[in-house]
Amino acid sequence: MTSQTTVKTLLILGASGDLTGRLLLPGLARLVAAGRAEGLSLVGAGSDPWTPEQWRERVHSSFAAAAGAAGDAGKDALESMEKETAYHQVDVTEKGALASLLGGLQGPVAVYFALPPRISQLACETLQPQEVPEGTRLVMEKPFGSSEESARSLNRTLGRLVPEDHIHRVDHFLGKATVLNILGLRFANNFLEPVWNRQHVEKVEIFFDEDLALEGRARYYDGAGALRDMIQSHLLQVMAIMAIEPPATIGERDLRDAVSAVLRASSVKDPVTDSRRARYTAGSVAGKQVPDYAKEDGVDAARGTETLAEIKVDIDNWRWRGVPFILRSGKALGDKRKEAVVTFLPVPHLPQGFTGVDSPNQLRIGFGPDTLEFDVDVNGPGNIFSLGRVTLEAELSASDLLPYGEVLEGVLNGDPLLSVRSDTAEDCWRIVEPVLKAWGQGKVPLEEYDAGSAGPASWPTNRHKD
Ligand code: NDP
Repeated sequence: MTSQTTVKTLLILGASGDLTGRLLLPGLARLVAAGRAEGLSLVGAGSDPWTPEQWRERVHSSFAAAAGAAGDAGKDALESMEKETAYHQVDVTEKGALASLLGGLQGPVAVYFALPPRISQLACETLQPQEVPEGTRLVMEKPFGSSEESARSLNRTLGRLVPEDHIHRVDHFLGKATVLNILGLRFANNFLEPVWNRQHVEKVEIFFDEDLALEGRARYYDGAGALRDMIQSHLLQVMAIMAIEPPATIGERDLRDAVSAVLRASSVKDPVTDSRRARYTAGSVAGKQVPDYAKEDGVDAARGTETLAEIKVDIDNWRWRGVPFILRSGKALGDKRKEAVVTFLPVPHLPQGFTGVDSPNQLRIGFGPDTLEFDVDVNGPGNIFSLGRVTLEAELSASDLLPYGEVLEGVLNGDPLLSVRSDTAEDCWRIVEPVLKAWGQGKVPLEEYDAGSAGPASWPTNRHKD
């Protein structure tokens, strides 16, 4: 399959950065190898005085995995992109610098801000609307602002430069396949949607427990923590997709309107009782020793950064009023658990005479690879009056692209479907801000858990674990 992209030039600012080398370029490579980025030029820029060869070498090594798996046509496409790519040394915070770079490129250009958030913001502030050629797309990484107010201010800055549907606020966690898998499951099965509401659902939990510890990312992570890093952005987006009303189409307007409506109705009612935080101490994860977080290089222990966070979100609308949505994410946990779990209410009356298990039905959607598990109670075996639990399992469709390939494909084709819209970016901060404030005031204790454990034993999400 070959396809021409709407965007003619992908300009990556932050050519030497970690995101560019580890995620963006490999994501792009698979797209290119699959013939899904025809006619696209790649340009890198950074403040380092790199030679064109240095940049080409970086592109070549980041493309290597995709090239190894590609057929002849894919290899040719990758080689040709590597050969043609250019590098520009530029300080994007200098007045006029980014504008003059943009003016010299073949448009439409997608500008990917793979830069520290403060530098991205400064770069956008130095740009003037008349310096941004028509059709330009601006691609912003997370974190998008650091509060509702700063997200609003950044939105205003971007909105002066290009129309909203040309702004791509990236949430790579919402790969196209995952979003569509959830929507397909919910809206193509008439046995599910009628019970997907407060009459039948007891609670919805969304877990993203990682076994990875800090992995040398103290500079970023110690200033962020689990709530800002994962829940504020990724998990609230997944929650919204789990909770939306049926959209008329899977177009960006319908879907993003529906997501926005859910988030507008969402809040953490009591930040003190509806949130928990903890930090890992030394332990062992999969046989590997993990040091105490507070003693890791680059960590300021006095900051009290949490490595595990949990919040209960209420969605005050007709469908969900009173149903807790519990969002939890953390690092250095013994059990990788990346799933959304819907727990249904018990049946109103179990006919007398049945014995055995009558635990609530659960539907679980696993992320990356996407899977589906559905627990149901059935009779037997052996005693036909005795109920037992079986689990129906299915693998959901996987994408042949990497998550950043899915993100880039949307950008290059001019489709903002998977991009976070401006109002949503602000709302996600509005939802977590009372929690951050309560934590800042010390109203919620910073608990501890051993690396490699399931988290603090007293947390209900641990007690209810399978
Ligand atoms: P790095 O610190 O690794 O890279 C930042 C890049 O910005 C460097 O290439 C640096 O180039 C460049 N840069 C800094 N100042 C300037 C300037 N004034 N003009 C031009 N270039 C400049 O950061 P990451 O790659 O880790 O992160 C980039 C963005 O992506 C951040 O917003 C981050 O939050 C986000 N992100 C990162 C993830 C990751 O796994 N790394 C995951 C998800 C999001 P030079 O060295 O030449 O100055």
